[in-house]
Amino acid sequence: DGLSAPTANSIDVLSKHFPLCMQNLHMNLRANSHLKHFGRLQYTLFLKGIGLSLEECILFWRRSFKLITDEKFTKEYKYNIRHSYGDVGGDANRRGRGYTPYSCQKLLTEPVPSGGQNHGCPYRTFKEDNLIALLQKTGVSDRDLLKTVREDVGKKRYHVACNRVFEHSHKREIKKVKDDGTWSAADLDTIVHPNTFFKRSWLLKH
Ligand code: SF4
Repeated sequence: DGLSAPTANSIDVLSKHFPLCMQNLHMNLRANSHLKHFGRLQYTLFLKGIGLSLEECILFWRRSFKLITDEKFTKEYKYNIRHSYGDVGGDANRRGRGYTPYSCQKLLTEPVPSGGQNHGCPYRTFKEDNLIALLQKTGVSDRDLLKTVREDVGKKRYHVACNRVFEHSHKREIKKVKDDGTWSAADLDTIVHPNTFFKRSWLLKH
């Protein structure tokens, strides 16, 4: 299934289950056929976290960077992807494992993007109106919800807003697993990691 063996080709379809931080990167990648360094790093580690193999991840980036040659790709980008997966470089400790996908905490505290960068958490980095427009682009349109999201981010409660959007867009599925007792309260804990957002969304919708 899509969750146990994601491939380079399945990322477009799976991306509808991604949290806003990763959907934002994905949409920018598709729009520009490029992402800057920190965005690539954030997205590569997330994709690794959803179970994309190193080979498929390299293929994904190679196909996505449509405007560059194979030679440039190999020289400038491939090494960093392998590095994220622990295939090359790093100390003995990281070898074979690479780096850990970033948590919300990390994404919410790192330096904010500038000059064409797209990394970080949009609930924090986007101006309010742009955030609402981005949410609408991803299919979130409920007016009351968007109003509450504005209030959340106004109070700097960024990841409260993200969890609110998740709960709203999975309302029916959450009710069902609660009612039939297939999920415990712990399974529905506050989301504090983009990979948890994805996994939970995928499981609830399948
Ligand atoms: Fe991503 Fe976390 Fe921000 Fe949600 S709160 S958009 S999962 S960084």
